[in-house]
Amino acid sequence: KSVVAIVGRPNVGKSTIFNRLVGERISIVEDIPGVTRDRIYAQAEWLNHTFNLIDTGGIEIGDEPLLLKMRHQAEIAIDEADVIIFLLNGKEGITAADEEVTKLLFKSNKPVVLGINKIDNPEMRDTIYEYYSLGFGEPFPISGSHGLGLGDMLDQVVSYFPQKEMAEENEDTIYFSLIGRPNVGKSSLVNALLNEERVIVSDIEGTTRDAIDTNLTVDSQDFVIIDTAGMRKRGKVYETTEKYSVLRALKAIERSDVVLVLIDAETGIIEQDKKIAGYAHQAGRAIVIVVNKWDTIESDEKAMKKFEDKVRAHFQYLDYAPIVFLSAMTKKRLHTLIPVIKIASESHAKRIQTNVLNDVIMDAIAMNPTPTVKGKRLKVLYATQVAVKPPSFAVFVNDPELMHFSYNRFLENKIRDAFGFIGTPIKIFARRRQ
Ligand code: GDP
Repeated sequence: KSVVAIVGRPNVGKSTIFNRLVGERISIVEDIPGVTRDRIYAQAEWLNHTFNLIDTGGIEIGDEPLLLKMRHQAEIAIDEADVIIFLLNGKEGITAADEEVTKLLFKSNKPVVLGINKIDNPEMRDTIYEYYSLGFGEPFPISGSHGLGLGDMLDQVVSYFPQKEMAEENEDTIYFSLIGRPNVGKSSLVNALLNEERVIVSDIEGTTRDAIDTNLTVDSQDFVIIDTAGMRKRGKVYETTEKYSVLRALKAIERSDVVLVLIDAETGIIEQDKKIAGYAHQAGRAIVIVVNKWDTIESDEKAMKKFEDKVRAHFQYLDYAPIVFLSAMTKKRLHTLIPVIKIASESHAKRIQTNVLNDVIMDAIAMNPTPTVKGKRLKVLYATQVAVKPPSFAVFVNDPELMHFSYNRFLENKIRDAFGFIGTPIKIFARRRQ
């Protein structure tokens, strides 16, 4: 998917435009603390194109002077995006900070679309000609607060997308990424995996964008580790900010079949870990929890059980995710990881035949009768799998309102147990059918 970034001075209306473009299509399925607040990355849609949108203004880098802030924003946009929307305030004209950004964007050679915001009425349209002088072509008059002109601007944005996404992705290849806060050992684990004897690293190639994927083969199964480059090359100021690492993680999660959520055994679980894991869960990817630095813990069965209990208590919504304990440094238990990634990936892509599924559902209902709400009883007619990655099931019922969260959860668990959906979330939707 193409990535579009919005840059512009504070208060030109970046967040308003961001929210307009994203709409409220993102449904908040579960309330995971911190995940949906101050969104800086989301999916948007225009003319059959789905793309990802970044609000670079949301990535604050402390109390920097304006020019420095703008410089960082522009760098992030240049690094991360395929197309850049450069937003200006039509009521204020071109400022010094705008010119600073212009210079950087110009050098990058990335396509830039000019959005001139706060053009709230047609008379103001005559004022936009001065923006031609920036050298990015036609300026598009828009009004974020009134929702005007966005269509024309978006037409221009999508015209820069590659004709066909280079989707040469092999069906059987398992794409995975490693996420976790700085210093949990992501780079160390990647390097440890690549240096394992059984692992054949075929090549490292630049893919569609700036991300660099690593291809590896283990026992004739092909894997791709996503965005290890982002982990390896470091140093820019903004790359140490929390929101930037979240952005990086989100981009990696999106392309993954399986996400490894890394936890540091030495320092334990902190709030930031939960937030990061929450993103992977919401995205519906298969998840494996990896407790790294296990060498630092007096390792016996009891310690493992104890740590596992802690993980389960902190990540209740990830009850489906297997936990792997290992040390990237000593390579102890490292060999246990790849098989678990494989299992999670298979679960994520598994299809269940309708008749087999319905046998399980009907058995479940016989065991635990459907609830009755205000004298009306939930009737389940049949169920069918409607999607994979993650496995999603439509359950046809007399009245979806009667399908309680707890009963939904009960059916989910029955399906999970019956078919061994290890490591993948599964979704159940109640649909009306008379
Ligand atoms: P990243 O920021 O998540 O990529 O973390 P790094 O891979 O750079 O590791 C951060 C620090 O943790 C480095 O000093 C590593 O040597 C150390 N480290 C990584 N894995 C292990 C491990 O399994 N055991 C121990 N004791 N240290 C580790």
